[in-house]
Amino acid sequence: MVTAAEDSTVRVVVRVRPPTPRELEGQRPPVLQVVDDRVLVFDPEELAEGPPAPKWGSAHSGPKRKNKDLTFIFDQVFGEGATQQDVFQHTTHGLLDSFLQGYNCSVFAYGATGAGKTHTMLGQRGDPGIMYLTTMELYRRLEALQEEKQFEVLVSYLEVYNEQIHDLLEPKGPLNIREDSDKSVVVQGLSFHQPASAEQLLEMLSRGNRSRTQHPTDANATSSRSHAIFQIFVRQQDRVLGPTQAFQVAKMSLIDLAGSERASSTHARGERLREGANINRSLLALISVLNALADAKGRRAHVPYRDSKLTRLLKDSLGGNCRTVMIANVSPAGLAYEDTYNTLKYADRAKEI
Ligand code: ADP
Ligand code: MG
Repeated sequence: MVTAAEDSTVRVVVRVRPPTPRELEGQRPPVLQVVDDRVLVFDPEELAEGPPAPKWGSAHSGPKRKNKDLTFIFDQVFGEGATQQDVFQHTTHGLLDSFLQGYNCSVFAYGATGAGKTHTMLGQRGDPGIMYLTTMELYRRLEALQEEKQFEVLVSYLEVYNEQIHDLLEPKGPLNIREDSDKSVVVQGLSFHQPASAEQLLEMLSRGNRSRTQHPTDANATSSRSHAIFQIFVRQQDRVLGPTQAFQVAKMSLIDLAGSERASSTHARGERLREGANINRSLLALISVLNALADAKGRRAHVPYRDSKLTRLLKDSLGGNCRTVMIANVSPAGLAYEDTYNTLKYADRAKEI
């Protein structure tokens, strides 16, 4: 039998973003009801009652409300009032102990374009997200451990776009992946940095974000097809036992995934499908890997890491001894009905990993 508690290495949380002014304009009721800090209802019955059935979506398009009234339970549900600090405290903050014990960790922001992934991971000036908050908290922890241990911290920031890896901090040609003799993943030629201050870290993150690929025909969907991966490497060594002692290395990967609408819209036709499928190979492969890990559940099974750049890159950071948090981002608006439904269904499945 599997020891459930030990094996439960994936936390799945959901963040509902506030409606945008445009979404509020229509005054349609939201499709999500946050019940408490672990429960939410999709397409709730009670909100649908009352005055003449409201039209969902815009006048001519947009999915119709179906009153599915589905209740979901997650490790944590963040309502629209949740701050970046709230999300950080209940996601990566809890990973830092494992990370400092030498476990590789990964945190994903999953969801459709516009659902709040970049806000959650990167945030904006004055309201930075998990990439910044995690790094700063890590520095604080290391500072407190200074006397016992010696540390080296390096960060990198890269993008997977159209099955190519690009350095976001020192842009150059596409980079290759290789696996070291000890099975750790190495991106050849990737630049590593040691931000000397909070200000420098913020500058680095926003500069990296500006280097992300924008699809020219898709002005509203900036970066929606690229995966941005911020990695923090910590190398540590006990001071007490002398410098000959072996050191320990661990890696934390914080990932702003490409929009999931392209992974689920496999019913699209023709050119668009082919383009979407190609561009999203990495996202589809990630979903397959996570599904394989869920099915395996402690058994040895084939996990298709080799199917994409993203999964090859994260091979040493998923499954096994790794710690993972999946942050599913959703919009509460009727216009996003299908996207929100698909994201919740996927997140619900990810709980089984
Ligand atoms: P994605 O990266 O998933 O495409 P974004 O993070 O860019 O989505 O979010 C879409 C818009 O919604 C942005 O203008 C962003 O600032 C805003 N937004 C997202 N989440 C929140 C939030 N929790 N609070 C306030 N604004 C948010
Ligand atoms: Mg984004």
